[in-house]
Amino acid sequence: MNKAESAALELLLAERGWKPVADPELADLVLINTCSVRITAENRAWGRIALYAALKKRRPFALVVTGCMAERLKHDMRATQPAIDYVVGTFQKQAFGLVLDAVAAGKRLEEIEESPVYEFASSYHEPGAFRSFLPIMHGCENFCTYCIVPYVRGKEVSRDPATILSELGELEERGIREVTLLGQNVSSYRWKEEGGELDFPALLERIAGFLEGRGKGGIRWIRFLTSHPKDFDRRTMDVIASSPVFCRHVHLVAQHGSNRVLKAMNRKYTRESYLSLVDELKARVPGVTVSSDILMGFPGETENDVEDTLDLMRRAGYVYSYTYHYNPRAGTPAATMPDQVADAVKKQRLARVIGLQRELSRDSMKALVGGEVEVLVEDVSKKRADELLGRTQQDMMVVFPGPSSRVGSFARVRLTGLRGNTFRAVEVP
Ligand code: SF4
Repeated sequence: MNKAESAALELLLAERGWKPVADPELADLVLINTCSVRITAENRAWGRIALYAALKKRRPFALVVTGCMAERLKHDMRATQPAIDYVVGTFQKQAFGLVLDAVAAGKRLEEIEESPVYEFASSYHEPGAFRSFLPIMHGCENFCTYCIVPYVRGKEVSRDPATILSELGELEERGIREVTLLGQNVSSYRWKEEGGELDFPALLERIAGFLEGRGKGGIRWIRFLTSHPKDFDRRTMDVIASSPVFCRHVHLVAQHGSNRVLKAMNRKYTRESYLSLVDELKARVPGVTVSSDILMGFPGETENDVEDTLDLMRRAGYVYSYTYHYNPRAGTPAATMPDQVADAVKKQRLARVIGLQRELSRDSMKALVGGEVEVLVEDVSKKRADELLGRTQQDMMVVFPGPSSRVGSFARVRLTGLRGNTFRAVEVP
């Protein structure tokens, strides 16, 4: 979501005549888009801000901080670091143009208005890009007990399907081949319209029909992020299976494998219901892969809970996982729960999760060697200029020989082997 919002800000800057510079020492404006989801992300942002604050002592420029940290800390950020000129929160982004105009005119904007609802920024991509994000909903009302997102992103709001389709059409016109639909929880997308309510599977169906109706064949792959297991349903599975435009990959976030911990996290599903969802998904969508986020070291977590998580990961057979250890976030219920787990124990448990995930990723990749898959060529290999780097629908990386002119196009390849987490392959006619 931050990447999509940064891209929209780049568009706003470009429209106002701002140009990027390679060296921040030369910039008239430094804009930092922050993340609050983990304390490490905030610490990194503070480090970056301190760096620019030091630079500002040598020459003047405007320093603007935005994103979830700006929303969470608001004016406290300027009290902590007076070198910051503007702090623009989640619900002030509609006023960004005014901030930029004030900076350009060398004036000071005293008040930045808040908007009562989140305003979607239109999707944007660099010229020549072939992948794009497309926000479809924003915010979250799930209040998982460890998570800061509902406090900094606000209530769920879905985007008008007509706007989504028209942006999709524009992206296709601009040469985009793959679109990722974005939302904190895409499965809770809801739009009231004449004749009823459009939910997420119905939106997917509408998108598939729209692209088919246009018949241009430009956008060939649609992905979506992120799906909450409590809302992801059988209809969504059937829609994915019904159209080749939907990538055979779902990021279905479990967070943990112990029912006791899931309850304390307020995740609203059990390990049993989660695993049966994964089984059903695999049965209904042949070839689908599943990935997840796993959060270790939640307050009160025991050795049995860790074993339950490792077991759930094995049963789900994740192709990859984003793994974290728990950091208390001030203002969330879990931050004040008893039995906080010691840092050393969290790290040791996380290391076990990472070790298992490595094995699982390797096993699921090994099983595919010898087969043929389609890839979207993303780049030239960093190691060899005569090799290309592609990504499969299942979100796996493939290296194969080919010219740089193929970047941005689709290729059919035979997987010949594995090096680390990357397939080796040859193109097939
Ligand atoms: S579903 Fe839970 S973890 Fe995800 S953004 Fe909402 S509160 Fe946070």
